[in-house]
Amino acid sequence: MKLIRALLLALVAVLPPFAHADYQPVAEPVADNVYAIVGPVGQRSPDNDGLNATFAFVVTDAGVILIDSGASRKGAEKLAAAIRKVTAKRVRWVVNTGSQDHRWLGNDYFAERGADVLALTRTAASQARYAEQHMLGLQKLLGARLDGTQPMPAMHTSDGDRASLTLGGETLELIATDAHFPGDAMVWLPRQRVAVTGDLVFVDRLLGVLPWSSVKNGQRAFQALAALQPARIVPGHGRVCDLAQAQRETGDYYDFLADTIGKAAQDMESMADTLAKYADLPQFSGLENYAGLHKANMNRAFTEYEAP
Ligand SMILES: [Zn+2]
Repeated sequence: MKLIRALLLALVAVLPPFAHADYQPVAEPVADNVYAIVGPVGQRSPDNDGLNATFAFVVTDAGVILIDSGASRKGAEKLAAAIRKVTAKRVRWVVNTGSQDHRWLGNDYFAERGADVLALTRTAASQARYAEQHMLGLQKLLGARLDGTQPMPAMHTSDGDRASLTLGGETLELIATDAHFPGDAMVWLPRQRVAVTGDLVFVDRLLGVLPWSSVKNGQRAFQALAALQPARIVPGHGRVCDLAQAQRETGDYYDFLADTIGKAAQDMESMADTLAKYADLPQFSGLENYAGLHKANMNRAFTEYEAP
């Protein structure tokens, strides 16, 4: 009996606590009044509450502007706690850069506390279209930690592919990118020369080309970002960086997909031969997720450029 009891106690000691969710996001300063919250670059999990992305917020005289609201109610609570450690001001605005889960499924939490949720009209339309698919995917990855999450697309929307928004003396430009998801946008802060790119820029990990992504739009949007000559970039995934790093890890990869893989498709070369020829790219192979994504990315780029 004593032995069984000792064994049981030893087992309990090594098991992780039930439903633990220890990941706590921390805000870091980026520029005057601008902060970033850099989530882990791996997969969504009950521990990180789907916060596997990078977020930003701007502290204005009239309150906080949060850029992207997390993938769940619990994720939104964690973002709110990270903001409270920086300022006592309340979140007045949530601006969404996209429709992928971590960009907006925390909207409802902030709206309940009085925040207005803003986005381009095209972004809000994609949110409504992808909501069910994202909730189903998250259910598998987050389980009970998703409880209480209510998809709420942005309610204050701007038509067209550009919008200028001002609150408490700080101006944000929302600029459509349409790269990772249709309707995606980036935020440009002209005073600080900071770009908060949403899912346009991935650093530290390889970007993913999804069935609904556009490599053509990604290349074009990255060129528009580079033309702004940002002093700092808060990427959609990975750590805060400069333009040179974003160029190496995202811009150059979009150029490769468009100018090498896309060109091979347009020249009617064999897809299998093309994918085999470029399977090993030392320039990008050090990035997280390369092994799992690179081949599928080339496949989707080829298919996009093959289309008439
Ligand atoms: Zn993302």
